[in-house]
Amino acid sequence: MSTENNSDKLYNDSVKILSDLIGFKTISGEDNNSIIDYCEKILGNVGASSFKVFDNDKKRVNLFSTLKSKKKNGKKSIIFSGHTDVVPVTKSWSTDPFKATIKGGKLFGRGSCDMKGFLACVLAYVPIFSSENLDRDIHFSFTFDEETACQGAPLLINELKKRNIKDSLCIVGEPTNMKIIDAHKGCYEYTTHFHGLAGHGSQPDKGVNAVEYASKFIQKLMQLREVLKKRKPKDSVFNPPYTTLQIGGISGGIARNVIADKCKVDWELRPVVKEDGIFVNNEIDEYVKKELLPEMQMVYPKSKIEKEVIGEIIGFNREKNSEACELVSSITGDNSREVVSFGTEAGLFQEIGISTVVCGPGSIEQAHKVDEFIKLEELKKCLKFLDGIKEKSKFN
Ligand SMILES: [Zn+2]
Repeated sequence: MSTENNSDKLYNDSVKILSDLIGFKTISGEDNNSIIDYCEKILGNVGASSFKVFDNDKKRVNLFSTLKSKKKNGKKSIIFSGHTDVVPVTKSWSTDPFKATIKGGKLFGRGSCDMKGFLACVLAYVPIFSSENLDRDIHFSFTFDEETACQGAPLLINELKKRNIKDSLCIVGEPTNMKIIDAHKGCYEYTTHFHGLAGHGSQPDKGVNAVEYASKFIQKLMQLREVLKKRKPKDSVFNPPYTTLQIGGISGGIARNVIADKCKVDWELRPVVKEDGIFVNNEIDEYVKKELLPEMQMVYPKSKIEKEVIGEIIGFNREKNSEACELVSSITGDNSREVVSFGTEAGLFQEIGISTVVCGPGSIEQAHKVDEFIKLEELKKCLKFLDGIKEKSKFN
């Protein structure tokens, strides 16, 4: 077979696999066992060894597969990392979101760009990786529930630590149009619940007004927001350069003349450094424990303030000489480095010492949207990139 035919076959395989992947309705939080089994089968067919890491009720699962190199002490292994979940859909789609539809050079479907397109390219490439005699291990990390504050990946990362898989380079294939992303802020999300004591509005001293305590809590957060600006790192790569803090919502109370016994505050932090996240949490927890709660409990001992952690996606930090970025640059010839505003699993790999880069096909512009699509040429670009990885992984 000519090279031309080989690359046609590869491309057709990737489209077929992407269509299959889109057919699995893997909205975050739902069972993803069948998509993981599908991926494991493709990998298992060529002799990759896999392990799974489940959530508590075995409903959702991460997969980690390895194509072992026959050579001992070869080059650093490479991890291709992606999430299998997708965000929910609305009724306004013009095609069936869980059926791949090709139109005008684009493939439509939920997850086509974020990020089943990358998974499909990598899976289509698996037989080639396995048939070439590569001098490094190739790993595949497929997680669940990335879109809901990276709930799956930390379980897998723990397992990698246990198995001592950390001498690796990691490519997180989130949609970047195959550009190199080497940093993003963290994203910490919280809801704080206030439980006070209801009463008649005419006698505020006899109740504990949850809404009023929530507003004091917000005031404190607003003060901390100003402190965060002053803590801005000298050479921050972000815009704005400091850690931000924001109140997303507040709700509580039932009527103007009733003391509100319940209130909740939704808030988020986008740390530029991990220390800022620790700082804000320490300060606000301390304020709650030492000032707010004692005041509330003086009137009503059963008063409560509870912080619910929705998710804490750690940031991904720029490194001066990132091996992973350099590997990608050496293949694509693109030496640019960019930051993005969305969170990924990259920081989790980086945290255990794995050099990591975010680079994948498709554009974030189309992610999470109605009529999500990936341009077919992006799939081709990604496959070409994988050719480069193969070349960089041969014996020499
Ligand atoms: Zn994503």
